Amino acid sequence: MVGRARGGLELAGRSLTEESEMVDDDRAIDTKAVHAGEPRPRIGGAVAMPIFQSSTYDYDGETDYHDIRYARLSNSPNHLALHAKLAALENAEAALVTASGMAAISGVLLSVLRSGDHVLAQDCLYGGTHSLITKDLPGYGISHTLVDRKDREAWERALLPETKAIYVETLTNPLVQIPDLEGVVEFARANGLVSIIDNTFASPVNFRPAEMGFDLSVHSATKYLNGHNDLIAGAVIGSAELVQGTKHLHDHMGGSLDPHACFLLHRALKTLGVRVRRQNESAGRIAGFLAEHPAMRAVHYPGLESHQEHELARRLFDGTGGMLSFELDGDVERAELFLAALEIPIVAPSLGGVDSLIIRPAAAVHVGLSAEERAASGISDALIRFSVGLEDADDLIADLEQALAA
Ligand SMILES: *Cc1c(COP(=O)(O)O)cnc(C)c1O
Repeated sequence: MVGRARGGLELAGRSLTEESEMVDDDRAIDTKAVHAGEPRPRIGGAVAMPIFQSSTYDYDGETDYHDIRYARLSNSPNHLALHAKLAALENAEAALVTASGMAAISGVLLSVLRSGDHVLAQDCLYGGTHSLITKDLPGYGISHTLVDRKDREAWERALLPETKAIYVETLTNPLVQIPDLEGVVEFARANGLVSIIDNTFASPVNFRPAEMGFDLSVHSATKYLNGHNDLIAGAVIGSAELVQGTKHLHDHMGGSLDPHACFLLHRALKTLGVRVRRQNESAGRIAGFLAEHPAMRAVHYPGLESHQEHELARRLFDGTGGMLSFELDGDVERAELFLAALEIPIVAPSLGGVDSLIIRPAAAVHVGLSAEERAASGISDALIRFSVGLEDADDLIADLEQALAA
C-alpha cells in the first residue's frame, strides 16, 4: 500500500482481504474455525480479533460505491475476517454476514430472482421463509411452486421456462426430515437453476453444501454458528459471483451486521466444532433414551434407525445434529404438563445454543400455519421440539425422565 502515512493498525486493516490467514483446504474444520480469515500479521499483535467500532473509514481513492469503506457496506475488518472464516468453514468461495437469518434469505432470494421469475421450494419450510415466498414475493412478481422434498418427478412437472432457482433446507423443522440433496443439485444443474439451501440446522460441521455442488447456502447464524442464544445474525455462503450479487443488493437494503455483533459471532465460531459435535452426541443419546420410553408415540431424529432418511444422513452428514422432536402418548394438555415439569431446558423458541431449549411448535414456531397446513406437514399439535444444548447429557436424560413420570 502506498501514499498517506498510516498507523500499523490501519495497515493491517487495509491488507485484511489479501493477507488474511490462509488455511490449507486439507486442514480440519476445527483448525479453520480458529485460524481461517484471521489477519496476518495480527492487528497490533492482538491474538483475538479486535472490534472495529467505527461506522466509516478514511477515503482511499475507491471508485466503486460498493468498495467505499463504510460499515453498512459490510467491509470493516470485522466483516472481512468473518467472511473469510465462514467461506473456509464450508469450503466455499465467498461469504457475507447479515443482520439476521431472514436478511440472508431475503437478500439471496431477491438478488437471484427478478419480477417474472419462478422459484421451486420444498413444501415444509422455516415459517419466516414460507411466508416470504408465499405471501411477500408474489407482490414483487415472483411466483413459486412448493414441492415434495424427495419427488423429483414433481419438480419436473412444476418446472416452468421462468423457473430460476430451487430452495431447500438440509433438515426440516421440526421433523428433521432430509430432502434428496444430491437430486436437488443434479436437477438444478440439468435445468440451469440456482440451487439454494438453508443449512442452519446442520451447521458446516455436519454438512458443507458447496462440497456437494450447491450454489448458495444460507444460515440463521443466530443458531449453531453463534450458538450462545445471545445475538441475531445471518450468513450467505457460496459462489463468489452469487455472494457478490447478494452483497450489492444487501448494501442497498441496509441489513448489515454491526461490528460488535461480528466480533461475538467470530469469537463463537472458534468453538463451533467442539459445540456441534457434543450436541450431536448428546442428541443421539437423548433420542435413543426417548425412543425406548413407553410414553413415546414417535421420536424424530436422523441418527435413529427408525428415521426415514437415516441411511442418507449417515452417508451425507458428518453428524446427525442437535435437533430432535417427539410426540408423547396423550394430548396437548399432557405435552404442556410435561414441559412445565422440566427443570433444565427452557421453554423458548430458537435453537442451536448452549442452553437447551424446548418448545411445542404448534403453539409458538408454526402458529403462522393453519391447523390444516400443520397437519399436512405432519406437525401434530402435541409435537415437542428439543434443541439439545451443552448441559451434561445424563442430567438432561434424568430431567426428561422425571418430567415424563410427573
Ligand atoms: C431461525 C431460522 C431462520 C431465521 O433466522 P433469524 O436469524 O431468526 O432471522 C431461518 N431458517 C431457519 C432454519 C431457522 O431456524
